[in-house]
Amino acid sequence: MAETFDISLDSLAKPSVAPGDRTNTGTAVSPSDGGTFFLETFGCQMNDHDSEKVAGVLLSRGYRQVESPDSASLVLYNTCSIREKAAQKVFSRLGEYRTKQAAGQIIGVLGCVAQQEGEEIFERAPWVSLVCGSASYRKLPELLSQLEAGNQRVTGLDTDTDETFETPVTRRDNPWRAYLTIIEGCDKACAYCVVPYTRGPERSRASDSVLREVRELANLGYSEVQLLGQTVNSYADSSPRKMRFSDLLLAVADVPGIRRVRFTTSHPRDFGADIVAALEIQPKLCNHVHLPVQSGSTRVLRAMTRTYTRDEYVEKIAMLRGAKREIAITTDIIVGFPGETEDDFAETLGLLEEIRYDALFSFKYSPRPNTPSLSMPDAISEIEKSRRLTILQETQREIQSQRNATLVGNTFEILVSGKSRRENQWSGHTACHRVVNFASQQRELLGTYVQVRVTGAGPNSLVGEQVT
Ligand code: SAM
Ligand code: SF4
Repeated sequence: MAETFDISLDSLAKPSVAPGDRTNTGTAVSPSDGGTFFLETFGCQMNDHDSEKVAGVLLSRGYRQVESPDSASLVLYNTCSIREKAAQKVFSRLGEYRTKQAAGQIIGVLGCVAQQEGEEIFERAPWVSLVCGSASYRKLPELLSQLEAGNQRVTGLDTDTDETFETPVTRRDNPWRAYLTIIEGCDKACAYCVVPYTRGPERSRASDSVLREVRELANLGYSEVQLLGQTVNSYADSSPRKMRFSDLLLAVADVPGIRRVRFTTSHPRDFGADIVAALEIQPKLCNHVHLPVQSGSTRVLRAMTRTYTRDEYVEKIAMLRGAKREIAITTDIIVGFPGETEDDFAETLGLLEEIRYDALFSFKYSPRPNTPSLSMPDAISEIEKSRRLTILQETQREIQSQRNATLVGNTFEILVSGKSRRENQWSGHTACHRVVNFASQQRELLGTYVQVRVTGAGPNSLVGEQVT
């Protein structure tokens, strides 16, 4: 583990520079004589984990993390551009920030908005010094060196890479569950999605590197690992071992000390019987699969270029439902894709009733730059998208209430991850990824596994009591 050293902020301070006047002043940013960073993350688990790695890179260079942008010499925003609202949030944050920026602070934009907007960010927010897209994080140490040498505008915007972002130091936020990216980027090209543009082509880590990190995590006391990728099950081992994704799952579960293995997100096209077989034989693999469908209409799926039909998707679900263990299934749905008719939407509602998902993430279609669907005709109005979203969410809420009610009386193993301010109240997740709030008289439970009997259920969580 690399050393960190805490040094005063002042040595990083530079004279404030007026917007539009960000040429190289020759002032060096040197963490060896002081440096603190504040890092705010927007978006998905992949972004959360990228931020953990970025924090690791900074800590290993001698920066110290602080909780507020006001006291940081380096302020970084790791951004999301999957929907327009998420991207707008970043610019409003940058705008807010401008008014309170302290002298000499360095502002950086990382992630998908950085990749998408590139150097235009310097035009819109001239007080920004660093723009680095998610596909270029492996260049981050080099970019930091340039900043430290006094460069005022540095960029990492390549997507043309076959490398993944691996760093010897990752500063993880959660002390019990560790995220681990096994595949970066995406080659699937769904018509609505910015990810292939912002995160670049698919590239998988070598299985021995993944397993080495899992062993290190187990030695550090992590008992749950979550393997991440935009299409995690499209994993293609980049080493000569050529492990299949399902073999990697089993190998990760075999690492001594590892008690739970999760993975997300799976793409239906690459979801095969071998993954179900692995889930059946290895109880350490959590019985939960997130399998985004996006729409219940084959016509819309074709327009989205999702590469499967409704029937093909339903076959994958049948395979999961036929497994020897009960497996929770969750999904993502987009409403109001261009040209989605009332009948298409009714097919999506019908799919919810047919599959009865354990949980659902639902979104109104958001037109995104560079994507094929941007120029598709028959846009659906915002009012209509909102109407469909409400109906979809109400339908799912009722399904979840009913499904969760059937769990009352059952006992689950919970990894305890939260302590309520209310006395003797704790919370955690089941292996099937349900949140359980429960009562226990024990004094310290965080990070432990306990048995909890479910005594009540709502649509989004369960309540229970510890069984001793
Ligand atoms: N790779 C995953 C997959 O194939 O399902 C999803 C990754 S994406 C970060 C998460 C979800 O955001 C998608 O499943 C989709 O439902 C939603 N999403 C992506 N682009 C969107 C857009 N332009 N408008 C609305 N929702 C979108
Ligand atoms: Fe986006 Fe489709 Fe790739 Fe998922 S599979 S990240 S939705 S392009």
